[in-house]
Amino acid sequence: MPDDRFGRNIHYLRISLTDHCNLRCLYCMPEDQTFLPNAELMQDGEIIQLLQLFTSLGFDKIRLTGGEPTVRAHIVDLVREMAATPGVKSLSMTTNGVLLGKLAAPLKEAGLQRVNISLDTLDPGRFKSLTRWGKFEDVWSGIQAAEAAGLTPLKLNAVVVRGHNLDDVVPMANLTYEHNWQVRFIEMMPFAGQTDFQTGLVVSDAEILEMVSTQLDKPELLNHGMLDGEARLYRLPGAKGTLGFISSVTNPFCAGCTRARLTSDGKLRLCLLKEKEVDLLTPLRAGASIEDLRAMILDGIWWKPWGHGLAEGEFATNRTMSQIGG
Ligand code: SAM
Ligand code: SF4
Repeated sequence: MPDDRFGRNIHYLRISLTDHCNLRCLYCMPEDQTFLPNAELMQDGEIIQLLQLFTSLGFDKIRLTGGEPTVRAHIVDLVREMAATPGVKSLSMTTNGVLLGKLAAPLKEAGLQRVNISLDTLDPGRFKSLTRWGKFEDVWSGIQAAEAAGLTPLKLNAVVVRGHNLDDVVPMANLTYEHNWQVRFIEMMPFAGQTDFQTGLVVSDAEILEMVSTQLDKPELLNHGMLDGEARLYRLPGAKGTLGFISSVTNPFCAGCTRARLTSDGKLRLCLLKEKEVDLLTPLRAGASIEDLRAMILDGIWWKPWGHGLAEGEFATNRTMSQIGG
C-alpha cells in the first residue's frame, strides 16, 4: 500500500461520481451553480480503469460521493462493476438520500455495503430552506429504505450552521436513543464560492457537545477518544446509537489521514482543503501506459500535503466541496 513522505498509509479513495446535484445546500454551492458537461466527467469505463489502478496499488476502501452520486446515470450497474473489482474490500456511499427510496435495495443488491446520509434538520421547513430545493419526507423515506435494505451501520451527517440549524442539534442527538444510528455533527468548512457565508457561521464541536450535555445528558466518550475514521465518538447514557463529532476546523485529524480523492473530472486530489491535484483523466485519454499512470499516482501520494491551514484562515479557492467530492 502506498505511503506518503510522512509515513501515512494511504489506502482510502473517495471517488466523486459527478459534480451535479439535485439539491443546493446553502453551505455547499450557490443556487445558480454551473456543472461540468458530461464529456468532461469520467465515463463509466474510465472510472473502472482508474479504480483497477488504485486497487492494484493497495487501495481497498472506496467511498462514492459527489455532487450527488445517485443522480449519475446507470449508478446501479456502475456500483455492481465497482463492487466486483478485485481488491475492493469496502464500498460505501455518501448521499443526500433523496433517491434512496427507490435505489437503496438495488444498490445493496449490486454490492454497496453502507451509506452515510446527509441530514441537517428534522424540521421540514428548515430542511427546505437549508437545501433550497429538498423535501424532508424524501430523505426520511430514503433513510428507512436504506435501513430496510441493510445498508448499515447507518450514519447521518449534519453540518451545523449558526443561525440555521443550531436548534436541531438536540433533536438530532435524540434520534440515537431510539435508533442504532451514528449521528455525526460536522463543522462547516470554507470552500470556493461560499467562503464568506461559511467562515462566519461555523459552530465548534465543543459548543455542540455542551448543548447536548446540558439539554439531554452528558455523553460518554468512546474508544478512549480514538477516532473512528474522522469522527470522535460518544454515546448518550442508554442510547442505542452513537454521536460522532467531525472537527475538521477546530481539531483536525490530518495526522491520521489515510485518504485521497478522485474528482469527477479525474483529478487525484490529495487533501480536501489544499489545491494540489494530479490530472489522471487527460493522460488516460491520451493513451498513457498503466505504468506511467501508476507512477503519477504514487508520486502524487508521496507529496500529499501534511495538513490544512483552516485555523489560520487559509483555504482552497479553486473548487467548491461538491466539485471536489465531499
Ligand atoms: N451530495 C452528497 C451529500 O450531501 O451527502 C454527497 C456530497 S456532499 C459534498 C458530502 C458531505 O459534505 C455532506 O455530508 C455535506 O453535508 C458535506 N458538506 C458540504 N459542504 C460542506 C461544508 N462547507 N463544510 C462541511 N461539510 C460540507
Ligand atoms: Fe448537493 Fe450534497 Fe452539496 Fe447538498 S451537500 S448541495 S446534497 S452535493
